[in-house]
Amino acid sequence: MKFWFVTGSQPLYGEEPLRQVEENSRVIVNGLKLPFPVEYKQTVKNASQIETLIKEANYDEECAGIITFCHTFSPSKMWINGLALLQKPWLHFHTQFNASIPNDEIDMDYMNLHQSAHGDREHGFIGARLRMPRAVIAGHWQDPAVQEKIALWQRAAVGAMFSHSLKIVRFGDNMREVAVTEGDKIEAQLRMGWQVNTWAVGDLVAEMNQVTEAEIDQLMEEYAALYDFDAADTETIRYQAREEIAMERILVAVGAKAFTNTFEDLHGMRQLPGLATQHLMAKGYGYGGEGDWKTAGMTAILKAMYPDGATSFMEDYTYDYSKELILGAHMLEVCPSITAAKPKIEVHPLGIGGKEPPARLVFEGKAGDAKVLSLIDAGGRLRLIMQDVSCVKPFQSMPNLPVARTMWCPKPSFLSGLECWILAGGAHHTVLSYDIETQTVRDFARIMGIELVCIDASTTPEQLERDLKLGDLIYKQ
Ligand code: MN
Repeated sequence: MKFWFVTGSQPLYGEEPLRQVEENSRVIVNGLKLPFPVEYKQTVKNASQIETLIKEANYDEECAGIITFCHTFSPSKMWINGLALLQKPWLHFHTQFNASIPNDEIDMDYMNLHQSAHGDREHGFIGARLRMPRAVIAGHWQDPAVQEKIALWQRAAVGAMFSHSLKIVRFGDNMREVAVTEGDKIEAQLRMGWQVNTWAVGDLVAEMNQVTEAEIDQLMEEYAALYDFDAADTETIRYQAREEIAMERILVAVGAKAFTNTFEDLHGMRQLPGLATQHLMAKGYGYGGEGDWKTAGMTAILKAMYPDGATSFMEDYTYDYSKELILGAHMLEVCPSITAAKPKIEVHPLGIGGKEPPARLVFEGKAGDAKVLSLIDAGGRLRLIMQDVSCVKPFQSMPNLPVARTMWCPKPSFLSGLECWILAGGAHHTVLSYDIETQTVRDFARIMGIELVCIDASTTPEQLERDLKLGDLIYKQ
C-alpha cells in the first residue's frame, strides 16, 4: 500500500516557479516519516491532468489514497471533473514549504510561490462545495505532531482498502434468536465491501479429516514455543490443532481474512474451536463468536491497521459495581495479542453446548488505555460505536474461571459509560484495541460513509441522546 502526493498548481507562474514547486514537493515527501510510503506523483496544472491522475489512482490497487497540497494557487474548477470520479480516500494536507516568513527574501515572487494559505482555501472550497468526504490536516510538514496525524489517517485509509476486499467465512449460521449478530449483508457489502458467505460445517469436518498427524505435530511445536501447557494430556490440544489447520485451509482457499462460528452449529465436531480460534486471531484473522460476522469483520480491519497490535474479539460479561469494572471474556475466543504474560493452554468443560471439554488459552489482558468498537445494523444503515476504556489488571485471581479475561472501566465514568453504550445500541460483542486512536476511527467512518458514535471522557448521556436523534435524521433514508 502506498499514497500518492499530488501538488496543485496552474500554468500561470511560468517554468521556473513550477520547477521549484515540484522540487519542494519532493523535499516534503522525502521528509515525511510515516508507517506507509508516500510517493510524489505530479504537480497538476490543468483539468485533464487531474482527471487522468484520479482515474489512475482509482485503478491502482496499491494506491490507498491521495494527499493533495496546493503549493501555489490552483483554480478549483479544473479539479471538479477529476474529484467527481475519486474513489480513493483523500487527505487535503494544508501545509507550506517554509515554516517561517524570511524577512529579507520575501517579495511578490515569494508570495506567489508559497501560497498555500491562498491556494489551499480555494482547494478547501471545492471539497466543501462538492460535499466530498475528506480529511483536512493543517501544519508544517516537518512537525512530528502533524506527521503523526497523517499516520493516523493512513491507518484508516489502509483499513478502508482492506475492508473493500474483505471476505468473511461463516462456518454455519448465527446463534439462534440473537438480534445483534443479525444484519443486512447487502448493505455491509455496499458500504464496507465485505463478502459475507456461509460454508457448511460438514465441509469443515471433511477438511479436518484430511489433516495429517505430521501437520498436527508441526503446529504443536508452534504452540509449544508460544504457550505453556501440560504435556501429559495433549490429545485435546491436538484436536484443536486439527481444527485450526482445517479452518485456515478453507480461509486461505476462499481468500478470507475473517470467520465466524457458533457452538450451536458444530455438527460432527468434538470441540468448540477455542485455542484454534485464538491462534488464528493471533495470526491476524478476524473472528466473531455466535456467527457475529460484523464483529469478525471489524476485528480483521483493526488487525490490518495494526498488524503487530493488541486487538481482540471481546465480550462484556459481568460487572463489579463496587469496583466499577466490567469483566470481559468469552466462552473461549479471546486473542492472545492482548495478554499481559505468556498464556497457558488448559482443558476444561464448557457449561453449554454439549461438546467435549475444549483446549483454550487462559490469560489476563494487560492494563492500559484501550477502545472497544461495535458495528451494529441500525436499520437502513450501519452504525459504528466506539468507547474509550481503561483496562486494569483483574483484582481477583478467579481460580474457577479458566478463560482469557480482562477488566476495564468505560468512559466517561462507569455508570454514565454503561448508559451511553446501552443508549447507542452497542452490542455485547466488540473489538478491543489498545492501539487504535479516535482520529483513525473518525477518518475510517468518514471514508466508509457510515455513522460514528464516539463515547469518550467528554460524553454525557443527555448529549448522546440528541446526537443519536441527529444521526437518525442524517442517515435514515
Ligand atoms: Mn458471544
